Amino acid sequence: MIIDLAKNAKDAQLAMKISSEVASIQERLIDVQQQALELQTDNQDLKAKIQAFNDDTEFRDSLEFDPVGIYTRQGPRGLEMYCSACLDRDNKRMRVTGTRGSGTPHCQVHGYRQ
Ligand SMILES: [Zn+2]
Repeated sequence: MIIDLAKNAKDAQLAMKISSEVASIQERLIDVQQQALELQTDNQDLKAKIQAFNDDTEFRDSLEFDPVGIYTRQGPRGLEMYCSACLDRDNKRMRVTGTRGSGTPHCQVHGYRQ
């Protein structure tokens, strides 16, 4: 009889210990899942940055510099012209306009480019 009571008490202690360990493991699992999610987000951000960097490098490698202050390149729909000051200083792809009428490339920000 006393032996049975002692055995039951020991079983109950063991069950509590197991339950506590399971709860601890579940908490750690949630932490690991959150870290995995953060890493996934970081990875997606880095992939997007690499893609943007490669796109920009490809764009810049396709340009030819004209000392009047424009970059030119053959784009998918014909000749493209960009203001060199906008691109070099502000990293903005500003097209120059007004080339058909006046024959003088004009930037919306920097004015006439020759
Ligand atoms: Zn400009």
